[in-house]
Amino acid sequence: MTKSHKTVWNECLVIIKDILGKDPKQEKAFKTWFEPIVPVGLDDSTLTIQVPSQFYYEYIEEHYIDIIRKVIRTQLGPQGRLQYSIVMDQNISGRPFTISQPSTGSHDTQNKPKSIDININPDNDRVLPNPFIIPGIQKVKIQSQLNATYTLDNFVEGSCNRLARAAGFAVADKPGSTSFNPLLLHGGVGLGKTHLANAIGLKTKENHPDMTVLYVTSEQFLQQYAEAGKSKTINDFIHFYEMVDVLIIDDIQFWANKAPRTQEAFFHIFNYLHQKNKQIIITSDKSPADLQGLEPRLLSRLKWGLSADLQVPDVETRMAILRQKLANDGIEMPHEVIEYIAYNVNTNVRELEGALVSLIAQSSLNKKQITLDLAKQMIDKFVKSTTREITIDVIQKVVCDYFNLPIDSIQSHTRKREIVQARQLTMYFAKKMTKSSLAIIGLQCGNKDHATVLHACKTIANLVESDKQVQHWVDDIEKRFKD
Ligand code: ADP
Ligand code: MG
Repeated sequence: MTKSHKTVWNECLVIIKDILGKDPKQEKAFKTWFEPIVPVGLDDSTLTIQVPSQFYYEYIEEHYIDIIRKVIRTQLGPQGRLQYSIVMDQNISGRPFTISQPSTGSHDTQNKPKSIDININPDNDRVLPNPFIIPGIQKVKIQSQLNATYTLDNFVEGSCNRLARAAGFAVADKPGSTSFNPLLLHGGVGLGKTHLANAIGLKTKENHPDMTVLYVTSEQFLQQYAEAGKSKTINDFIHFYEMVDVLIIDDIQFWANKAPRTQEAFFHIFNYLHQKNKQIIITSDKSPADLQGLEPRLLSRLKWGLSADLQVPDVETRMAILRQKLANDGIEMPHEVIEYIAYNVNTNVRELEGALVSLIAQSSLNKKQITLDLAKQMIDKFVKSTTREITIDVIQKVVCDYFNLPIDSIQSHTRKREIVQARQLTMYFAKKMTKSSLAIIGLQCGNKDHATVLHACKTIANLVESDKQVQHWVDDIEKRFKD
């Protein structure tokens, strides 16, 4: 008699739990990494399990693949295979990004999330992740991926954002039929681009419940495109985006100087949507004039509509933002404290909020009243310690500078020892210092897959322990990040 997938997985769990043992840490690991897994199918000797995100899959691969391999073999014999089915990465609002009818072309695969085949037999060639499958022409319901907390109502108005905000209202009222198409929102980090773009999406849905609104980061878009390329489903990918009524692409500067084919795909999608009077909203941390490294014809399209900038809010607006946050959280704070924060944190709204949150945390942890003195101590520390954000680009630059290599050498396919080393170090630091997934790191470091990145990270981590030279490099490079 054949067992069901549930039985098989339950038996696997029992063994895994046993292998991990009774140590509280391991018990916790079991709870975190194994309990949320849902068995979804068993086909010959392939067991399919659903994991909540790409990150889960990577984590399990990194830490538990040996155990899983053993267990699957015990349960399903030497031919046993495991297939991961991944609910698309969580978006900011915590809802999974799902498209309700991903389809491989045959009709019996509806409602299957992205699946990744893992060949657990190490003697065979590794089966590479099978990308996110995007539906064909069926009518699909697309989750908008909007963050419900970023509304227009709580986007405080000031002279720094008046035009952008007004344009947002207009677009949400008549998406696609104003001259603000595309609407390009630009401004430095932490000035509210993501918030405003989201808010416009939410308002649009409120005004036009039938419209399909989709928010994606340009990083997500790039990754999906790369995956579609590997699985030869580019047409499906493009089709998918062409079904959208309001497309929001966040942080388009991310494509600069890379991803020419992603940009080309977007160019086609853009043209299609624009021609059909669909709304396009784009954010960028650079103004169109400074957006070098984007395809010129795409750049020229971006200038067709309205480009509105977000500036650093003046002190009045900063106070209004603080007051609103406090009111939202139901917290009271003396006026002088609010003023002190608003005057002293003048870089951007994200840091302003960060300072406020730290102060509140400080006061509640130590059960101290929020006074001007406490604020002064805190804010001075806060202002000093806020460091610039480290991105994979920054890491590449620092590592290449350190070894006197041209920055594009990381992208090249050469096997030259010094470049391989630089690339591995870049991957190692990217894993350590950014929140990017292994897949994204690989993509940005010469289009490698996540397994290569994982291998690089392990190699460097081992060398740091055993090789004085490498240890010295890592220390030196780390120092440069702190400068
Ligand atoms: P960006 O995308 O430009 O880097 P975000 O949209 O992520 O910036 O904004 C950073 C933080 O500041 C968010 O928490 C956002 O809600 C808040 N914020 C920015 N501008 C405003 C504003 N005008 N009113 C209220 N909150 C704001
Ligand atoms: Mg943003």
